[in-house]
Amino acid sequence: MTAADHEAFARRWAEAIVGTSYVSMGRRVLAKHLLGLTQRLVDATLAEEFDPSVGRQIGVDMVAAHFTGTETLRGTLALISEELPGLLGSNPHCTDVPRRVAQLAASMAAGYAGALRERSLDEQDAVYRAGLRARRQAEQALAASETKFRAMFTEAAIGIGIGDLAGNITDANPALQRMFGYSLEEFTRLNVSAMVHPEDASSVWQTYAELIRGGRDHFRMEKRFYRSDGGEIWTNLTVSLVRDENNEPAYQVAMLEDVSERRLLQAKLEHQAYHDPLTLLANRQLVTERLAQIFAESAVGRRVGLCFLDLDGFKVVNDSLGHHVGDQLLKTVAARLTRCCCAGELVARMGGDEFVIVVEGTAGEQDVVTLADRVLAAMAEPIRVGKHQLRVTASIGVVERPVVDTNPEDLLQAADITMYRAKADGKARYAIFDRIRNDSEVLRFTLSATMLAAIERDEFFVEYQPLFRLQDRSLIGVEALVRWRHPTFGVLGPERFIDLAEESGSIVQLGRWVLGQACEQARAWGDSFGAAAPFVSVNLAPRQLHEPALVADITEILADNHLEPASLQLELTEQALLSDADGPLTVLTKLHGMGVRIALDDFGTGYWNIPDLRRLPLHELKLAGSFAEGLQSPSALVDQRIVAALADLAHALGLTVTAEGIETPEQFGRFRTAGCDTGQGSLFAPPGAPEQIEHLLRACHPLCDISTEA
Ligand code: C2E
Ligand code: MG
Ligand code: MG
Repeated sequence: MTAADHEAFARRWAEAIVGTSYVSMGRRVLAKHLLGLTQRLVDATLAEEFDPSVGRQIGVDMVAAHFTGTETLRGTLALISEELPGLLGSNPHCTDVPRRVAQLAASMAAGYAGALRERSLDEQDAVYRAGLRARRQAEQALAASETKFRAMFTEAAIGIGIGDLAGNITDANPALQRMFGYSLEEFTRLNVSAMVHPEDASSVWQTYAELIRGGRDHFRMEKRFYRSDGGEIWTNLTVSLVRDENNEPAYQVAMLEDVSERRLLQAKLEHQAYHDPLTLLANRQLVTERLAQIFAESAVGRRVGLCFLDLDGFKVVNDSLGHHVGDQLLKTVAARLTRCCCAGELVARMGGDEFVIVVEGTAGEQDVVTLADRVLAAMAEPIRVGKHQLRVTASIGVVERPVVDTNPEDLLQAADITMYRAKADGKARYAIFDRIRNDSEVLRFTLSATMLAAIERDEFFVEYQPLFRLQDRSLIGVEALVRWRHPTFGVLGPERFIDLAEESGSIVQLGRWVLGQACEQARAWGDSFGAAAPFVSVNLAPRQLHEPALVADITEILADNHLEPASLQLELTEQALLSDADGPLTVLTKLHGMGVRIALDDFGTGYWNIPDLRRLPLHELKLAGSFAEGLQSPSALVDQRIVAALADLAHALGLTVTAEGIETPEQFGRFRTAGCDTGQGSLFAPPGAPEQIEHLLRACHPLCDISTEA
């Protein structure tokens, strides 16, 4: 048998067993490996002294080389017994080749089987040992995590408690013991159901039951508990459900963080936000929210009442005796108001010396009137502050209405306005809400509050009324009269808003605006009509005379429009000049000195005396409309004599006289006869747009007409 025969046998062997075992050898490598075994088999068969145990060793080696598949041995034995004897043929040294091959094969099979058995025992052993090792490691890890858990449980700053599903507490960490003041033994005698707080929301225990049933894995909420000493703690509570290996609920773990301090602080801040620090009464904010709540819950037929109270003359006390006394007084008033009220009535300080009592669920107006009576009686008693014995009264606005009829803002505003009526009616009393008066007051407030914005929005406009010379009926001037084109209420005359503007101070802005408008208009007429252009007469409110900037404003406006000061006349009422202060007179003197005309408007309605008239820097007297009425009455002749005397007086003082409100030819004739210089009234022309003036100017001065068209 040649070497090539050996290789061919090894290749066939490889063919026979390839793929029968998990050996990572390719066909060629396998054939090379089997060539070695083939060599050993041939050598063993042909040996001079035959040793069948070589076959056993070959079997063992095959297993060691991982030829362990069941088919491997079968294929190997078949190939050896079928082909090897033929290949070796007859040999001079060896005559019993087939027997030797059979013995070697049997021995190989035995070696193979033995080695295989040992190997699988080894493998089992390895698995077993690995199992042991793994268990030991797991036990160590468990112990470590148990230690870690214990350390955490014991050292944790938050309270941790463990309980079974029946609610029996089985463990509680030191933090929880400190938090509740129970020892561990005391805790373990407790059941979770004993932890109910009477003010727990019903949802707390529903959620808990859900968790125990396995319906949820944890919940979190702020909850109050009682400590062992009966004190209260607020906690941030988290309860978690722990399940067993079958995913069934097993026990519960609760973690509690003590948030009492934070809650206390929160409560304190809330109290501060809703209370007046001086009197400790509720403040405006709380009233607003309480009212909002009442109105939100409003049911048909539900009513609500308000007493809006303002002390009379509190400012005097504050100013004359000092804020300390004022503060004490407010505290006493607050205490008295609180005593007047019962449950369901909220007393609040709205600010300054204003208080409000909110009465929920009234049966009718009488309920609040009775309360107001009680309050007035409580205020009647003098208040002692230090050495001062003070008598304070209060004005109260009473409002009582069905909730559905109103809203919190309107209710408060109505009570406030009604209180002002009590003041106007003489103080130390209450006034009851009156819808009609309230509505007109509300309108006044609305107008007053929106006036400045209305100036910005250009809602105001100026009309001009001609001033005629009575002798020849020529147009010499115009009075500027302001109007408000209100988006809701239509065109409003000055009687609707000038007083309001004066009260609120908006008159300063409005007055400056009118002056600017009138002067711009005067300039436009001057440009068109030259010397025939009229002067403009602008009404000045009392407050404007106290404005430090008035002279500078007027100077600037005149300069901006290139107007001579004599093109402007200012109309002032007696009221504006009836001031003890020197300011207004100084201002007037300056303006007069500049050459601006000064007229005393509505003359004859006040109490003027001659020295006053002499003292004032004036150019003109405007006789009040009542004189025109007199000239139309049955006693017209007497009135005419009076007007004539006044005109003489005015002329003696170097003043001109204008008659207002001339509606009839008789009035016109009589004023002229009485010696008045100028007049205005519907007989000539009512106040109107600038175009009306232009029309009149063109009609009287045809030359101007031409010059403007040129
Ligand atoms: P006043 O200055 O005495 O103005 C004359 C008022 O008489 C004007 O009323 C005018 O429309 C009205 N009138 C004109 N002709 C007749 C007439 O033939 N018969 C009757 N009965 N009345 C006539 P108006 O425009 O309603 O102004 C009322 C008052 O408002 C003014 O009285 C003036 O005191 C004030 N006012 C008007 N505009 C302004 C302004 O811009 N500033 C200030 N501070 N007050 C103004
Ligand atoms: Mg006037
Ligand atoms: Mg007038």
